[in-house]
Amino acid sequence: MSLDLPSTGCRSTPVLKERGQREVFCGLTGIIWLHRKMQDAFFLVVGSRTCAHLLQAAAGVMIFAEPRFGTAILEEKDLAGLADANAELDREVARLLARRPDIKQLFLVGSCPSEVIKLDLARAAERLSAVHAPHVRVYNYSGSGIETTFTQGEDACLAAMVPTLPATTARELLIVGAMPDVVEDQCLSLLAQLGIGPVRMLPARRAGDLPAVGANTVFALVQPFLGDTHAALTRRGARHLPAPFPFGEEGTTAWLRAIADEFGVARDLFEQVTAAPRARAQKAIATQSQELRGKSVFFFPDSQLEIPLARFLTRECGMTAVEVGTPYLHEGLVGPDLDLLPSGPVISEGQDVEKQLDRQRAAAPDLTVCGLGLANPLEAEGHTTKWAIELVFTPVHFYEQAGDLAGLFSRPLRRKAILRKEAAE
Ligand code: SF4
Repeated sequence: MSLDLPSTGCRSTPVLKERGQREVFCGLTGIIWLHRKMQDAFFLVVGSRTCAHLLQAAAGVMIFAEPRFGTAILEEKDLAGLADANAELDREVARLLARRPDIKQLFLVGSCPSEVIKLDLARAAERLSAVHAPHVRVYNYSGSGIETTFTQGEDACLAAMVPTLPATTARELLIVGAMPDVVEDQCLSLLAQLGIGPVRMLPARRAGDLPAVGANTVFALVQPFLGDTHAALTRRGARHLPAPFPFGEEGTTAWLRAIADEFGVARDLFEQVTAAPRARAQKAIATQSQELRGKSVFFFPDSQLEIPLARFLTRECGMTAVEVGTPYLHEGLVGPDLDLLPSGPVISEGQDVEKQLDRQRAAAPDLTVCGLGLANPLEAEGHTTKWAIELVFTPVHFYEQAGDLAGLFSRPLRRKAILRKEAAE
């Protein structure tokens, strides 16, 4: 096996940096998938009714399943006197923990309103941690729209946990990034077959399984938006294994290869373990990507998954990328994906939405990947769109999901073709 590096990747492509009006979710949305992953955690947003409504809208039917998140809504009197807000927060937390004794980790999540009135949630978390120890550990991070964009909420959450993780000198592999349980199990099974272990996960499913970290820890990221977590782990002495992200057959193989090389896994064993799932993934991608071959794709910035996904769509599904927009570009994280992405597309960071819409209209791509706020208006103009949010909620990592990942992009094109055919009849 060899990685076929295009003669010119995109690592040295000048990045178009834009600032202006943005169309993105705030970091609170991360709570939707994080609370499902961490089974004994509760996420308490300290915010306004806007924040509560956002969570309800994003969680959809999940809000009827006694979810482990809620909003402590700041009232007018809280805005007038901060001492009251702190006392009230302490009371709300005590009431919540008495009612839900299964909660072992409590996250106080900052929002725009809590930040604007400078409510010190870091201090509150320390105070409440001392009160409710050892049964409950209280953390704090910001999911506000002023500080965080969409998936950055997960980054802020994980980064907040890193300084409190126990220390170790053991040589362990740490996999960082929330994945659905079934995908996490596939990942662990592949690593076990390669003889790599012990393997720890961040986030862990339960507080009791939290990893320890130290100078002999090596870590691999499964999500490209974990810049702050990467920095926090590096500060604890852990070493990052840079690799393309495990999307598609090629990405998964390259990701596993980087870890296998670090742990001295023999080439033969690697081939033996990966041959069958690789073949399955290639077949599934080939079936799902028929509609994608030869088509063009334009990415608006949303989740930071854009660069690895553009790499997958261009190299494994035969698409051409016109523009790849990302809210933030962290070269230390997505550099290996940029190396593989064939040169050609505009790589843009940040957003000035009107200017970007002009570029998108001029390019008239076959498929536009964007947030919910832009999708329907663009559809009404005749463009075919893919909502980026689904890429975060759907299992898309590793071999067994590679066909589904291609399917997420081909479905809107297929639907458009069917509707066009029906209209013609
Ligand atoms: S945190 Fe800010 S951007 Fe997010 S819902 Fe609340 S007010 Fe809106």
